Amino acid sequence: MDLKLMGKCALVTGSSIGIGEEIARTLAMEGVTVVVHGRDRERADLVAADIVSRRGKAIVVTGDLTDDIQVEELCASLGEQLGSVDILVNNAGGSGEKHKWEETPVGAWADAYNRNVLAAVRLTNRLLPGMRTGGWGRIVNISSMAGTMPPPNGPDYSACKAAMNSLTLSLAKSAAADGITVNAVSPGTVFTPKLETAFRDLAAKNGWTDHKGEWGEVERAVLRHVAPVPIGRVGTAGDIANAVAFLCSPLAGYITGIDLRIDGGMMPAI
Ligand code: NAP
Repeated sequence: MDLKLMGKCALVTGSSIGIGEEIARTLAMEGVTVVVHGRDRERADLVAADIVSRRGKAIVVTGDLTDDIQVEELCASLGEQLGSVDILVNNAGGSGEKHKWEETPVGAWADAYNRNVLAAVRLTNRLLPGMRTGGWGRIVNISSMAGTMPPPNGPDYSACKAAMNSLTLSLAKSAAADGITVNAVSPGTVFTPKLETAFRDLAAKNGWTDHKGEWGEVERAVLRHVAPVPIGRVGTAGDIANAVAFLCSPLAGYITGIDLRIDGGMMPAI
């Protein structure tokens, strides 16, 4: 399907690795000029170079999104290199260390909020006016299944992703009349090298299967015990990126204010 994204410009925060990297790559392959972002310049440069080697268009900006001055500089650099952007994917963030509920330091709650919610707000506030003027825009906030199905540990992370879902809906209502859609995407458990190590360690510790065996075997054995994913596997960055690309496209113009769960069917109720 042609997503009709050719010629658009997108900033994908936290695209130097992981889910963001795959979103940047997917958008670039649809003809979008992608701004690859992270704090680690070297890694961001590698992602951009790989996109360009596949005939995509990519530039790089860096900056810590918890720091107002760095965000200001990032936006200035963006303005000089590209002018305005049509698409903002607020992906940077993550959980940090997971503590038991009452052992979660107050500072960790503030840090999680700053790293996930305020990072998105800082960029949204700066880029939204250009989208309003242009009469078209897409904002996708990468939330988490934890926002609506919080586990007992790591409450700071779950709460800030719930806040992200809420701000998505209020912003969707605020921006709709200007041709801008705003949606959240909530991944379930997504494959990363760290997750593979954790699964293999669990399999070894509990004797569930040969922990050095084929990944699919280990994955199925561990999921059976720790996470009831009806589809029977963890998600991939590609599963998330394809959905994000669709929401960024003109084809998704009547979809706004949703939280799209991509969790292999894990949510126990609608
Ligand atoms: P990841 O591999 O840890 O990558 C995080 C990205 O965000 C990196 O590019 C990192 O850049 C950037 N980043 C982190 N903090 C930043 C900061 N303060 N300022 C600027 N950039 C920052 O993360 P991921 O697992 O792909 O997750 C991406 C998003 O999906 C997150 O919002 C996460 O909460 C959400 N999510 C992930 C999963 C999962 O299973 N992986 C599940 C549900 C939701 P540098 O390292 O270059 O600084």
